[in-house]
Amino acid sequence: MTQISNREMATIRSIISIDTIPGADAIEVATVDGWKVVVKKSEYNVGDVVIYCEIDSFIPHSIAPFLTKAGQYPREYEGIEGQPLRTVKLRGQLSQGLILPMSCLTNYGADLEIGDDVSATLGIIKYEPPIAAHLSGLVKGAFPSSIPKTDEERIQNLTARWDDLQTYSYEVTEKLEGSSCTIAIVNGEFMVCSRNLNLKEDEHNTFWKAARNLDIENKLRILNLDNIAIQGELVGEGIEGNIYEIKGHMFYVYNFYSVTDGRYTNPNNRAKMCNELGLNHVPVIKLMFNPGILSINDMINLADGQSVVNPKKLREGLVYKRVDGQEHFKTISNKYLLKHST
Ligand code: AMP
Ligand code: MN
Repeated sequence: MTQISNREMATIRSIISIDTIPGADAIEVATVDGWKVVVKKSEYNVGDVVIYCEIDSFIPHSIAPFLTKAGQYPREYEGIEGQPLRTVKLRGQLSQGLILPMSCLTNYGADLEIGDDVSATLGIIKYEPPIAAHLSGLVKGAFPSSIPKTDEERIQNLTARWDDLQTYSYEVTEKLEGSSCTIAIVNGEFMVCSRNLNLKEDEHNTFWKAARNLDIENKLRILNLDNIAIQGELVGEGIEGNIYEIKGHMFYVYNFYSVTDGRYTNPNNRAKMCNELGLNHVPVIKLMFNPGILSINDMINLADGQSVVNPKKLREGLVYKRVDGQEHFKTISNKYLLKHST
């Protein structure tokens, strides 16, 4: 099947079931893959092929004017007027994303298949909150092609493969809400990258400051390490609302990647490397976890909980990594999403 990546915001899918919402007569809830979406009553039927737009999609006003409240102007993002899709609760029913009829694609519908990405055709892009200046920094170049970018698939998109995926064991770590940072040394060159870019060294850049404060370059050189990437989440002041209320910044490692071998280091060796380099590791919730008979819904419910970083706060979710590093996905807490999506 087509692997749905985070950038594929709008895809062709089919409705698996439609259920009533207690106490509501104008709306009902449709299920597409692992997602629940509130729709108008009788607008769709089980088996209908539809366009499903994931949460965080930015939907152009021209496609879905009803997303903007009467009397209000649509928002503007990247030069497009429209609305971002957030997690909401309607009559107590969780609703994530948007279902659109295939008629939105009048001229293109003929040779489309389930799984096809129609984001570009519809002008739908991922909504990313603006990045603070202290994070964006000065660009040195593209993200190094020899290192994978950090990304996690949402479990809701893995229904077709869940029968297989649930039989494996995973390392479970807390998903931290911060900014992805890759610190690497490639052919002797030390570099610090944000999620998508290689950054120029700059005393005002938060990623570089963190890398220097942790003295990572010296430590790597002393240990004679080369062609290795350390990937982690930078959290703290000025980053994603600093939900953990951290003073200053903290860097939590979740990956070591060997550029030479073209693969991730296993969890045991990753922990050892963190120790040797004096770096924090993201909180490990379980070293080995087998989903067994748990459904995707059960897995989503397990994402709810308090953060290890600040136990007074809800955690964003969990990341599951197969021990061989081959498969990894995220479960985001709906409790967290509902609290943070207003
Ligand atoms: P998202 O933040 O929803 O785009 O999900 C993917 C991102 O989660 C990755 O790019 C990482 O920056 C971040 N992340 C936070 N905590 C973890 C973790 N424990 N393991 C892996 N990735 C993580
Ligand atoms: Mn994130």
